[in-house]
Order: sequence, then C-alpha cells, then structure tokens
Amino acid sequence: MTDLSAIASRLKLQLPSPELAFRPPWQGAGTLQLYVKRDDLIHPLISGNKWRKLKYHLAPFLANPPGRLLSFGGGHSNHLLALGYLCQQLGLPLTAVVRGDYTSRETPCLHYLQRWGVDIRYVSKLDYRRRHEPGYLVQLKAQTGAEQIIPEGGSSPQALKGVGEILDELSHDYDYILAPIASGGTLAGLIQSAKQPQAKIIGVAMLKGEGYLESLVGELLRAPAHDWQISHEYHGGGYAKVTQELTAFCQAMGPLVPLEPVYSGKLFMAARDMLAQGRFAPHSRVLLLHTGGLPCPLSN
Ligand SMILES: *Cc1c(COP(=O)(O)O)cnc(C)c1O
Repeated sequence: MTDLSAIASRLKLQLPSPELAFRPPWQGAGTLQLYVKRDDLIHPLISGNKWRKLKYHLAPFLANPPGRLLSFGGGHSNHLLALGYLCQQLGLPLTAVVRGDYTSRETPCLHYLQRWGVDIRYVSKLDYRRRHEPGYLVQLKAQTGAEQIIPEGGSSPQALKGVGEILDELSHDYDYILAPIASGGTLAGLIQSAKQPQAKIIGVAMLKGEGYLESLVGELLRAPAHDWQISHEYHGGGYAKVTQELTAFCQAMGPLVPLEPVYSGKLFMAARDMLAQGRFAPHSRVLLLHTGGLPCPLSN
C-alpha cells in the first residue's frame, strides 16, 4: 500500500471529520455561535489529532519502508496507541520507549501494543527526560536497531501540515479556535496553516508548563506566524490530574458530546469558563477542536 488515501479508506477513517453546531446549556452560550470539530470521530484507535500528526511522518515510509521506527510515550499514550496500530496495519516494526516501568501494571494501551507486536522498552523517568538528546537517540538506535525516530506525541515539523488540513476542511470562518496543547504539534499546525486573519488561535494547556509550552510551539514553527496564545489556567494541577468537578462535567456533557478528563474535558471546561468571563466578543463564532482521547472501545 503506497498512498495515504488508500490507507485512509482501508482503515475507514472518517474524513473530513464532522464540524457540528454545539449548543451547551452554558451561561452566555446563546450569544455566540459555538461549533465542535469532531476529530475524535476519525477513528476509534487512531485518536483524533494523532492521524493528522502521523500522516506525513508515515507517508514517505509507504514506498520505502525504513526498517524499525522508534517513538516515545507514557503508559497511557494515545500517540503510541495510534502509532502502534498504524504500524501493525502497515507492516512496519515499531519500538515504543515508555516512561516508567509498567511490567507489573499493564495498561490498556500497553496491552494493545503488545498484541500488535510492538517492542516495548521501559525506561526510568530520568532516562525518559533525555528523549530529545541526540546522543541518547543514537544510543537507543544502536540498542534497538531502529532507523527512524518519531518524537513524543508525533510532534515534529512534519506533523504540522497534516494538522493544517483541519482548517482546509472547515466550512465556516471563525473568530476563535480553541485546541488543547500537550506536546505542541497540534497547536503549531493550526498556527502555521491559519488562513483566516481574524481567527484567534488559543491553546489550552493540559499540563503545567508556562513558558515551556510556548517555547515548544515556537520551535516547531518555521515561519513567523499567525497570532496565537496559550491559556495556562485550566490544567487543573497538571497533566492527567482530574478533579471531581471535571469528572462531573464530562459526565454531564456526555449526551451532547463525549468527553474524557485528560484533554477534551479540560478544553471544554475552559471554553465554558472563558465564556462566563466574557473572553469572547459578542456574536463571535468559536470552534472547539475535539482531539479525541476517548477510551478505546476494543475488548479482548
Ligand atoms: C495527544 C493528544 C493531545 C495533545 O496534542 P499535542 O499535539 O501533543 O499538543 C490532545 N488531545 C488528545 C486527545 C491527544 O491524544
């Protein structure tokens, strides 16, 4: 299989993803036009933004298989799950370098990676921190036989073009576009491809990283770019930190839009709060990017 569209149709990816009007019972919501871009519906395992980010990473490998790939993530990584599934489907060998030792507490993500034949290497948190160091990458390649490295979250300059295609699919102009940010590729891709000059692109930080997240995004962007900002008020204490309020919010929103607490729940709760604070101009059109992350529906 040598082209992306053939793969997208074989995997039954739902593309373009739906862009739906969203009418939550939030104070002030009636004065705005809210929409959701449902990238969570693209595929149950290739979660939302992960297809967007991996697409052009994998494209050159289809005609010229590169040998073993290697990437990074936590024990619950949506990125490793998506990449593991794609590699299994495409017949590409993969090594997953996982932060922390999970040998005695297998997660659903790691369970599937194992089933798909992924070579899993657990490393200490200290080693994991070296994942961007060239010397460490050379060492990992020698240890595992990997030829190609895909950075954590798939966030590299190659990821941006695929993310930009979200904007090509839109049928409305927006005043605000809100997206979650963790490793930065999604936000950087939106910024790089923004065509609507009035659109303010707002990243909502999913982790504590004031300054750090700005520099991640800045490094991914090649050209001087569109206006953007990151809001740091809604990580709820850190990555994957979940409060009772957040869990209740996700449950209450469920009938309108399925949310999970690590990404989409925080994003939508941020939107509700920004609205209550009057951060959006009256009558403006606001897009929430649902990047997926919902629990994987497969059973054993
Ligand atoms: C990976 C992921 C993100 C984070 O995107 P980045 O490009 O890493 O900032 C957001 N939402 C979901 C559901 C994810 O799986």
